[in-house]
Amino acid sequence: RLGRRGPLTHVRALHASTSTATPASSKQATAQLYSSGRQPIALSSAGITFTLEDGRKVLDGMSGGAAVQCLGSTNPDVVAVMAKQAAQLPYAWHQSLGNAPGEDLAAWLTARSDGALVAAAFLNSGSEAIDTAIKIVRQYWLEEGQPQREYIIARNPSYHGNTLAGLGIGNVASRRGLYAPYIPDTFQHVTTPQLKRSGESEEAYVAQLAKELDDKITALGPQNVAAFLAEPVVGSSVGVMPPPKGYFPAMAAVCKKHNILFVMDEVMCGTGRSGTLFAYQSVCEGVQPDILTMAKGLGGGYVTISGVLVGPRVADKIIAAGQWKSSQTYQNHPINCAVALSVVNKIERLLPNVQARGKQCVAELQEAFKDEPAVYDVRGQGLFIGVEFDVPSDLSPRFATRVKNRCFDNGLLSLAVSGGVDGTQGEAIVLAPAYNAKEAEISTMVEILVKSVKECLAELKKETA
Ligand code: PMP
Repeated sequence: RLGRRGPLTHVRALHASTSTATPASSKQATAQLYSSGRQPIALSSAGITFTLEDGRKVLDGMSGGAAVQCLGSTNPDVVAVMAKQAAQLPYAWHQSLGNAPGEDLAAWLTARSDGALVAAAFLNSGSEAIDTAIKIVRQYWLEEGQPQREYIIARNPSYHGNTLAGLGIGNVASRRGLYAPYIPDTFQHVTTPQLKRSGESEEAYVAQLAKELDDKITALGPQNVAAFLAEPVVGSSVGVMPPPKGYFPAMAAVCKKHNILFVMDEVMCGTGRSGTLFAYQSVCEGVQPDILTMAKGLGGGYVTISGVLVGPRVADKIIAAGQWKSSQTYQNHPINCAVALSVVNKIERLLPNVQARGKQCVAELQEAFKDEPAVYDVRGQGLFIGVEFDVPSDLSPRFATRVKNRCFDNGLLSLAVSGGVDGTQGEAIVLAPAYNAKEAEISTMVEILVKSVKECLAELKKETA
């Protein structure tokens, strides 16, 4: 294994810290602390179709519900890799023993980052990756001798996870309000771009947003600001939103002016979802992250894995300091990493299909809804598609949820997102199908969604007549 060194030196150094050491439906109520009371039991899945307990089939327009199961299910190669790794080396604690799948996965991913990312660590969920990114930012500035750099600026609305730090750095009032006493004001926010709703020209809007960030940093004191964090393509908070042209270069220029780190959250939009392996390669116009988080598609739904990848600026500082001060029991888990490596190899081969099927889906939806005033916007990036509605909430609160439920009854799994900060910013349906979805399957998803929207609007008309 000595032959593997070289580029892996950084990878290993970030891994290692030397400092310390059959759900039957009748049981559902007791098995699930969280339940909105409407989830039917899924018995099995094959390809991109779920079979429910009552025998119904549901086409999966949402990669298992949360943009995760990006290869569909029952992929025999992935299952074989999982079994082999479980038989050979299921576990080794990263502080005591390294493992080849962890190193190989880090090397595979960093090699595809155009030099932006040189080291990695693997955790278990997107939220943990976000917490870890925040901790890396903190350690970076401590090693730099600038402990006063405490503020991290993210965007409003945004979702970055459900741990306390994730809820704090994100901003969805309905999710974080409950935990306000535990959320410090070192998390600050600027506006999430929503170009169409702004009514501005792209150029003027981007200039306005860059000025907002610059003003925010100036107000906090540039010497006190540690990082800016954003999703390259917004996922759940406003329902799939690619950035306006020029946005990432403009925000990166502000970060550079004040010497602050740029963190990109690719938990939802990354790992092929946006049409390239990393989402920043699709939409950031040459801007690269100092720190990047990924999850969801990385494990394909087979394992729970997330990643934090860092660029040379951060890696050099932390490695020079001798250790990375963060560690978890299941960090770099061998089975997770082996499965993820198998998944990403398959993802890479499917990227042309992600791009083609994504374009097909957006084109078919735009055509179907072109004369429907209740549909405000149809947009997408890769196989990540948002359909935003313009239905006044006094007519139908949570219209997107109504559509999602109707889609389900009509045989399609989709996702409803609503409103970001205060519910005024629109309701949207998100589609994020598996990367191997076929042309005919995409057309069926579009047909079901269109039919469901029409049914819900007709129903609404009757209710309000
Ligand atoms: N960041 C983003 C952008 C997300 O979409 C999510 C999950 N939807 C998270 C972080 C948190 O990931 P997890 O639910 O795996 O903790």
